[in-house]
Amino acid sequence: MTAEQDLYPIWHPYTQMQTEAAPLKVVRARGVKIELADGRELIDCISSWWVNVHGHCRPEIARAIYEQALNLEHVIFAGFTHEPAENLARRLLELLGGDFTRVFYSDNGSTAVEVALKMALQYWHNLGRLSRMAFIGFEGGYHGDTVGAMSLGGSSPFWGSYRSVLFDVDTVPYPWTFEGDERVEQKEEYALSCLREKLEQQAEKFAGLIIEPLVQGAGGMRMVRPRFLQSVQDLCRQYGVLLIYDEVMTGFGRTGDWFALAKSDTAPDIICLSKGIAGGFLPLAVTACNERIYKGFLSEDPAHTLFHGHSFTANPISCAAAVASLQLLAENEDSFRQMEERHRRWFNHWLINAAGLENVRFCGTIAAFDVVSDAATNYFNSLGKVLRRRFLASGLLIRPLGNTIYLMPPYCITDEELSQVYKGIKEVLAETIGAQSLKARVPLLISAPDA
Ligand SMILES: *Cc1c(COP(=O)(O)O)cnc(C)c1O
Repeated sequence: MTAEQDLYPIWHPYTQMQTEAAPLKVVRARGVKIELADGRELIDCISSWWVNVHGHCRPEIARAIYEQALNLEHVIFAGFTHEPAENLARRLLELLGGDFTRVFYSDNGSTAVEVALKMALQYWHNLGRLSRMAFIGFEGGYHGDTVGAMSLGGSSPFWGSYRSVLFDVDTVPYPWTFEGDERVEQKEEYALSCLREKLEQQAEKFAGLIIEPLVQGAGGMRMVRPRFLQSVQDLCRQYGVLLIYDEVMTGFGRTGDWFALAKSDTAPDIICLSKGIAGGFLPLAVTACNERIYKGFLSEDPAHTLFHGHSFTANPISCAAAVASLQLLAENEDSFRQMEERHRRWFNHWLINAAGLENVRFCGTIAAFDVVSDAATNYFNSLGKVLRRRFLASGLLIRPLGNTIYLMPPYCITDEELSQVYKGIKEVLAETIGAQSLKARVPLLISAPDA
């Protein structure tokens, strides 16, 4: 550690402060570009940890924030309400469709999940169904960093030190797939049989099942087919288990539709939203539910109240930013609906013949593939760090999850920029693959682009 690093006062998230390089200082950002203090420019290929949707510093949202801040910056949300929160709730319910009728506000994804967890538990408790206290999750699931959310994502490799305070969650396999996967049906059937077995044996034990629908994010951008979600939904209905969608990452266009629930034509009982909700400007989160859950809390008995709230619940400035962001999304639906086709086109142009890639997969605005490695495909694969540094040196902000490289750009990325990104990956891989011991050249099975 240098003397300079010794004096640096900040402890950064998900960062080993002893070995990691000093953080890069950012001075401004526009569209997909992030400008550093030393004058360099990076293309933000991961939407600044998945929160940005339109590109940085969209003036429409900046203006909405300014105007709201001049009018009402914040007010207690117990016993009070305001227009930005009401407008946003109505708009969200329209967009979500299905049976959703109520919106509960909080301020980050982990918290949206904690609220879902408490809603599900207390719903059954209020009904006197005291046996329903456990949850089902999926292998590789990630639901946030607070204790309840860590428990629900119990199979994550991050939680070793905290294991003793996490509660047990029953997990079933997540049958993730990729282009040309010949075993996908088998994997889905196996996962469903594991789920069915748990439910047949002890349905009365489970309050809810939580899943990242269509794409597991932190677990490695692992994708399932919509039909799998439909089968999961059928089983939850059959056994009376509440279906909870964690769409903190997949919401707001990420999967190529407004929400994964729309793309998969499914209807969970509870949904968690955050990340892109306010366009990447401000923290905000929502846990929405259907009328059946909501009614389970209406009572003369004060003990049936949902005891949850945060200082900044439904912050008016965040809500105003979200309303402006949803308006922009509605005006630019093509930007997320057409991104998958563009990913495929540029992948095929630059990477189709690249050596050492496998498990190529796309879902809407997200593209991912694994670099073949002697070590296991997971977050701690050391390739990730090597690649990250080389990407930065080539002007690309990409943070591989171990040996999984993924792209999740803001929707405003142009064809020229996207082409530059894939070309940059090709060049970095050519350098890196020379230096790493790779198993083999893997022939790529990939369907021709649609256009
Ligand atoms: C990021 C994420 C969370 C946690 O959100 P935070 O705002 O980081 O607390 C929860 N679930 C999923 C699927 C996520 O991707």
